[in-house]
Amino acid sequence: MIDVVVVGAGPVGLACAIEARQAGLDVVVVEKGSLVNSLVGYPSRMEFFSTPSLMEIGGHPFPTLGYKPTREEGIEYYRRVAEAEQLDIRLYSPVVRIDGERDAFRVTTESGTIDCRNVIVAVGFFDIPNKLAIPGEDLPHVIHYYKEPYPFSRQNVTIIGGKNSAAKAALDCYRHGANVTMVIRGPEITDSVKYWIKPDLINRIAEGSIAAFFNATISAIGESSVAISTPEGHHQIDTDWVLAMTGYRPDYALLETFGIDTGDDEHRTPIHDANSFETNRPGVYLAGTVCGGLKTSKWFIENGRFHAAQIVEHIVSGATKAHDLEGRHWRTAE
Ligand SMILES: Cc1cc2nc3c(=O)[nH]c(=O)nc-3n(C[C@H](O)[C@H](O)[C@H](O)COP(=O)(O)OP(=O)(O)OC[C@H]3O[C@@H](n4cnc5c(N)ncnc54)[C@H](O)[C@@H]3O)c2cc1C
Repeated sequence: MIDVVVVGAGPVGLACAIEARQAGLDVVVVEKGSLVNSLVGYPSRMEFFSTPSLMEIGGHPFPTLGYKPTREEGIEYYRRVAEAEQLDIRLYSPVVRIDGERDAFRVTTESGTIDCRNVIVAVGFFDIPNKLAIPGEDLPHVIHYYKEPYPFSRQNVTIIGGKNSAAKAALDCYRHGANVTMVIRGPEITDSVKYWIKPDLINRIAEGSIAAFFNATISAIGESSVAISTPEGHHQIDTDWVLAMTGYRPDYALLETFGIDTGDDEHRTPIHDANSFETNRPGVYLAGTVCGGLKTSKWFIENGRFHAAQIVEHIVSGATKAHDLEGRHWRTAE
């Protein structure tokens, strides 16, 4: 019986594990993929928008070559931190069930079970792309995870979406020889696009280097073309690839399997206490980006990493009441 199982080895899951260990708790992290699996899935050589100090966890400094960390520096930083903290992390072990109750949970992975007193669910939202619900969406040339521009040079590429990921993919593909068309639901490139990316994209559209349809939606995807609806009428354009940069959503089916109430507000915010992050299921906590539900911009590394202290404080204060403290070094009991 261990004190805490953390589900998910993203930046926030790792922050929770470090916080728990520093409070004297035994902790195991269980991860369905690689360490910081979501970051591994980000575009190659992408730059984070945060400066390194805002992404630090466990008080470990994050040295970087430039002003902003790259994806590769981020992945390596979290790996080194996990190593320095000697965290017990079980990789490639998806958690499929959480049975039992506080102080007597059984966490089942695809390869075994772990008994624990508390569970922190830090599963992010990067595994389920937002679907368009249109014909042709499942064709093999429709891609939801952009990695790098090279497969698309000398190709007709339609990019759906107008936010940061779409903007960066459009500029990257254009600069590596792709013929890019953007299909954007709103009337303009909004301020949600970072201030150093937005003017670049607006200027490329204005000079005609990147084509863009505004107030537009894709109504169907074919083998070699897409159908676009705009207020001015319908268009059919040739396309070899469709990059559907339409965002991602939490895995609600997984949360429900874990017994977490997935909420019914406009953002489908999973039920959790705003201070302790405890869910409707006592002893099961949510941490990180998953806490925002469909409002995926609410929590990120910069602010999500602080969930760790609040959750561990709540676990420890509950444990202080419930358990014999002899021989343990609970932080609040010191
Ligand atoms: C392109 C891009 C750039 C970004 N730049 C920044 C930035 O500059 N600054 C910033 O603060 N944020 C940034 N973000 C957001 C940031 O990356 C996320 O907020 C961060 O990854 C969230 O951490 P997390 O630990 O909550 O979730 P994640 O990092 O998504 O981690 C969740 C983990 O849970 C695992 N998991 C899921 N299901 C299971 C299961 N059933 N069993 C076991 N494990 C499971 C996943 O594999 C994953 O490793 C960016 C995001 C993107 C997409």
